[in-house]
Amino acid sequence: MNHEARARAEAWLEYFNDLGISSFCLDRSTAAFSTAPETASAAPESAAHSVRVAPPSGIPDRTQKSTPAPALPVIKSASLFEANERVEGDTLERIRETIGDCKRCKLCEHRNKIVFGAGSAKADLVFVGEGPGHDEDVQGLPFVGRAGKLLTQMIEAMGLHRDDVYIANVVKCRPPQNRAPEPDEIETCSPFLYRQLAVIRPKAVVCLGAIAFQSLTGTKQPISRLRGQWLEFRGIPLMATYHPAYLLRNPNAKGDVWEDLKKVMAHLGMKVPAKR
Ligand code: URA
Repeated sequence: MNHEARARAEAWLEYFNDLGISSFCLDRSTAAFSTAPETASAAPESAAHSVRVAPPSGIPDRTQKSTPAPALPVIKSASLFEANERVEGDTLERIRETIGDCKRCKLCEHRNKIVFGAGSAKADLVFVGEGPGHDEDVQGLPFVGRAGKLLTQMIEAMGLHRDDVYIANVVKCRPPQNRAPEPDEIETCSPFLYRQLAVIRPKAVVCLGAIAFQSLTGTKQPISRLRGQWLEFRGIPLMATYHPAYLLRNPNAKGDVWEDLKKVMAHLGMKVPAKR
């Protein structure tokens, strides 16, 4: 492998390692094997294609095809096919540590603070927004500007406090001029959100706006079509509603959002006010 290709491969391995993925398999059946409490020497044929991610200096040279595959160690961590799913023993603190002083995408160039997320790690309800704005970037906290104040009011109208829920964003750094996050930025950053959701395992996720909704569901459908309906993100019930910033511009849509939030309250077993 030439120097440049090796450097690129090392950067990718480091990135996957950051995501908690430390084994790579060439097919899904092997991925399933990778978590089995056996050694690879007792494994089906396909397990010979498993690659344990070694520290950069130890990247196996795949050009040496004549060398027989060594017996693989037991792999307990997530494989590439299980990317972003629950990493055993993961915590919010560990995810934050992994993110570090992130330079994985171009949003790092203009950000002031990384906005990781805030609230209860045991929350039944998680709100997911798009990305930090100016105030969030300054304070390092999600939804603390004008839209955030409205979100706080919405949470309190539900009879909850901000500390009862968890609030996060699809991207953790402010896009310049408050533009929408771009696909490569979403792709790079959202695995950390997926890990946060896997750790919290809430009873419901509310996506605030189209970016959050489309990122978590993979759909391109407009939010106006699917808001207020129960969808799912990796087994977690998910509902999309309008972003509070949209409500600041379109106060008439507040009633729709309240209807959506009442469905969330009912789902959480909370008392739902008849009229508001
Ligand atoms: N808008 C978002 O989507 N997220 C924030 O944290 C603030 C505003």
